[in-house]
Amino acid sequence: MKYTFQKIFIVLFCSVFVMIGAPSLINAIQGGGNLFGLVWGGMFVFIPLSIAIFWLRQLSRFQKMTYVWYKTVYADNVQGNKVSCFVCGNDSIHVRALMNKTFHREHFCTQCGKTLYYSPEQG
Ligand SMILES: [Zn+2]
Repeated sequence: MKYTFQKIFIVLFCSVFVMIGAPSLINAIQGGGNLFGLVWGGMFVFIPLSIAIFWLRQLSRFQKMTYVWYKTVYADNVQGNKVSCFVCGNDSIHVRALMNKTFHREHFCTQCGKTLYYSPEQG
């Protein structure tokens, strides 16, 4: 549910920029390719759009790749509290905090570096 709200927020936030940039972009195209309008409008449209897509994809990954998901998909690699890597079978899994204020931690294999699943930061 939290993820859905975050996704809606991202879409709304970016559409504000797109609404500012799109008219300027359309004007520039209709006005025969005014370069300033194209660059300015394009920046407002494509930069927020690519950021939005990046964040939405990342959120979808956090939403999908949870511990519960890992346990379901790679049942053989979760024995009680012991988690092992589904790629190389190594059972030394480390956790690192992700940057960019994602408030998520990444659980990864210390041997092959594969990301196994994500978990929200506590507190
Ligand atoms: Zn591994």
